[in-house]
Amino acid sequence: MAPPTARIDLHTHSTASDGTLSPAELVRSAAGAGLDVVAITDHDTTAGWAPAVAALPAGLSLVRGAELSCRWHGEVPAAPLHLLAYLFDPAEPELSAELARVRAARLTRAERTVELLRADGVEVSWAEVLAGAAGGTVGRPHLAQALIRAGLVATTTEAFGARWLGERYRLPKEDIDVFRAVALVRAAGGVPVFAHPRATRRGRTVPDTLIAELAAAGLAGLEADHEDHSPAERAHVRGLAAELGLLVTGASDFHGTHKTVRLGAFTTDPQAYERIVADGVTPVASG
Ligand code: AMP
Ligand code: FE
Ligand code: FE
Ligand code: ZN
Repeated sequence: MAPPTARIDLHTHSTASDGTLSPAELVRSAAGAGLDVVAITDHDTTAGWAPAVAALPAGLSLVRGAELSCRWHGEVPAAPLHLLAYLFDPAEPELSAELARVRAARLTRAERTVELLRADGVEVSWAEVLAGAAGGTVGRPHLAQALIRAGLVATTTEAFGARWLGERYRLPKEDIDVFRAVALVRAAGGVPVFAHPRATRRGRTVPDTLIAELAAAGLAGLEADHEDHSPAERAHVRGLAAELGLLVTGASDFHGTHKTVRLGAFTTDPQAYERIVADGVTPVASG
C-alpha cells in the first residue's frame, strides 16, 4: 500500500517515444525528484518497460503503461485524443498488433511531413529525423527538433505553431478508435484513463457525453491535474469524474527537454493509485 504522503506521477515519456531521457535516466530522475511512484507511458509502445525496470532505484515503484493515440469518429473531422493505459499485458496479441500498426503509420506520416517540408524548400532530412527518434516511436517533437537544428524556429512551442507542425505541416495519424482502444486495454487486463481530456489549449476537446459513453464502455479514470488544464478545467474534470464514478489522476506528462514541465509537477492521490493497481494484470515493479 502506498502511504498517504506518497508522491505519485502517472504520466511520463522517455526516449522510447518523444521524451529526452532514456528509460533508465527517467526512473533515476524520478527517484531524484522525490517520487515514490512513477509511470512510464510512452506513445504507442512498451519498449521502455524493460530498461526502466532494470534500472529501477531502491524505493521507487514503477507502473508500466503507455499512451495510446486514439480517435473519436463521432464528429467530422474525427477528433484525436490520448488514452493512458496502465498495467496491461504487453503480449496480448490484439493490443500489441494495434500499437505496432500505429507506430508504423507514424513513421510514414513523419516521412511524408519531411517530404512536404522539403518540397517547400525547408532543409530537413528524413535520415536526421529518424536518427533523432533513435528507434523510439516517432512523433512531431522529433520533427520540431529538426526544424530547430535547421534554424527555422527557436523553440518546440514555435515549431508547434500554425505555420509549422501545428497546422500547415500537420498530417493526421492513423489512430485507434477510442471505443476499440478502451475494449482492447481492458481485454489485455489494463486500466484505461483519459489523458488531459479538457485541454482546450491543445485544440479541440470532446463532449462530456462521449466521456460518459466511454465510462459505460470500461474507462476507469480521467486525468484532471495536468499543465494543459486551467484551474476551471481541472475542477470540471473532477466534477465529471465524481458524477460518473471514475477515478481522477494528476501527472506531469514529463517529456524531458521537449517540454518545460518537471517530474512530479502534478501528482495522483494514493487512493486513486490503489484502484489502478487493484485493476491491472501487470504488477507494479518495485526497486
Ligand atoms: P504527435 O503524437 O506526433 O502528433 O505529436 C504530439 C506530441 O507533441 C505530444 O505528445 C507532445 O509531446 C508534443 N506537443 C504537442 N503540442 C506541443 C506544443 N505546443 N509544444 C510542445 N510539444 C507539443
Ligand atoms: Fe508526447
Ligand atoms: Fe498526451
Ligand atoms: Zn503524454
